[in-house]
Amino acid sequence: RPDATASAIAAAEAHCAHTYHPLPLVVASAEGAWLTDVEGRRYLDLLAGYSALNFGHGNRRLVEAATAQLGRVALTSRAVHHDRFGAFCAQLAELCGMERVLPMNTGAEAVETAVKTARKWGYRVKGVPQGQAKIIVAGGNFHGRTTTLVGFSTDHAARADFGPYTPGFEIVPYGDATALEAALSANTVAVLLEPVQGEAGVRVPPEGYLPEVRRLTRERGVLFIADEVQSGLGRTGRTFACEHEGVVPDVYVLGKALGGGIVPVSAVVSSAEVLGVFRPGEHGSTFGGSPLACAVALEVIAMLRGGEYQWRAADLGDRLHRELGALLEAGALEAVRGRGLWAGVDVPPEAGTGREVAERMLDRGVLVKDTHGPTLRIAPPLVISEEDLDWGLARLREVLLEALP
Ligand code: PMP
Repeated sequence: RPDATASAIAAAEAHCAHTYHPLPLVVASAEGAWLTDVEGRRYLDLLAGYSALNFGHGNRRLVEAATAQLGRVALTSRAVHHDRFGAFCAQLAELCGMERVLPMNTGAEAVETAVKTARKWGYRVKGVPQGQAKIIVAGGNFHGRTTTLVGFSTDHAARADFGPYTPGFEIVPYGDATALEAALSANTVAVLLEPVQGEAGVRVPPEGYLPEVRRLTRERGVLFIADEVQSGLGRTGRTFACEHEGVVPDVYVLGKALGGGIVPVSAVVSSAEVLGVFRPGEHGSTFGGSPLACAVALEVIAMLRGGEYQWRAADLGDRLHRELGALLEAGALEAVRGRGLWAGVDVPPEAGTGREVAERMLDRGVLVKDTHGPTLRIAPPLVISEEDLDWGLARLREVLLEALP
């Protein structure tokens, strides 16, 4: 029934805004690391919803937690308290080694919330003159799609024709602590960074950069905001990517996997001093911290507390990077980056564009996604089996080696 795929795609394209260029796969169901399309074909998922599905599709614990909560109460709004909220805040704060939680829904909303938090902290605690707060960000950043956040994007497609933009941001090169130091000024309230840049192609900064950012921000009384929406919650082999260099930021921004791929859950997590800047009425969200969101996130937090997903990501990540290293050695890849069960690879020009390689992978039953140009991102669910990972990587090897002269 190839018609089922074609007609589903045609219907979508006729009636949706074309903000994406999806691969020609129409998913009908999924389990663990496997997707099934409308024609019954199976595909290995090496994308995991851009790391929202760290615990796999249809994860039993998460589905049960969600289903049980749906049978009790799904939404209250924050007009009243509900019985899962306190535990969610306490346990998420504990997981982060912090004190307070401000829940939102999407990653972009949480980063926006962190920006608002840092500005208010700057005015109310640091004493920055009203309207003068500056936040330093990095080239190649991706923090979400709101007008404020795309205003300091360095990606043309993300930013073009959405202005005027929010002022108060300065962009410095990612991984360059000297440039960051030069940009720090009396009115700087925060440095906002991804500890590993996901959308930029899984860029890991040079060793020593994050500790230097930590040292400089501490010295200058500036908040270090780590956007761990994509890098956090097990993906890199640790709960947080910052941990690889022993760094603890002032603010964590979390999203994606926090909702287990079931419900959008994001949060800003920080100290009592920083999140203490808010008074009732100054920020909020109808769905943020809902009973359903809290029930699922509590299960996610419990799973991460056990540590086995992080171990798995580290272990399988070694396997992934061994194989990608071999492909690099063989000339079948031009670059390999990443950490844990997370990689960005650049395919050589003879193999075609990243998009073309992703399409050929799809023909062989593997989902990987190009980001831009020659770059592919590989981020399987952390629950993938060794055999499935090896099988998927064998397909990548085939596709790349076939294209070489
Ligand atoms: N921050 C980072 C680091 C991200 O990777 C993303 C999403 N790719 C976001 C924020 C935005 O998350 P959302 O799509 O949920 O708004």
